[in-house]
Amino acid sequence: MLIHHNPDDWVTQVIRHVCEYHKRQPWASWPGCTCSTSISSRRATPEERLQNIADRAAEEKRRAKHMADYDAGKLKDQP
Ligand SMILES: [Zn+2]
Repeated sequence: MLIHHNPDDWVTQVIRHVCEYHKRQPWASWPGCTCSTSISSRRATPEERLQNIADRAAEEKRRAKHMADYDAGKLKDQP
C-alpha cells in the first residue's frame, strides 16, 4: 500500500521548552534539568502551503542550475 504524502501540505514544527534553571543559567549543566524539544509536523495553512510550493520550486531550480553548471565544467574545483 502506498501512503500519499504531499510535503507541500505539511509544516515542520519545533517546540522548545527551557527549564527555569536554564532560563537563568543556559551555560551550566544541571542534573535536575527538564529542558525538552519536540519536532513534529502539522497541516500547513493555505498561505504556508503556497510558500512551501514556492520554496520547493526555488530549490528544484537551484539544483537544476548546479547540475547544469557541473555538466558545463564550471564546478570542477568545488566539492
Ligand atoms: Zn534545563
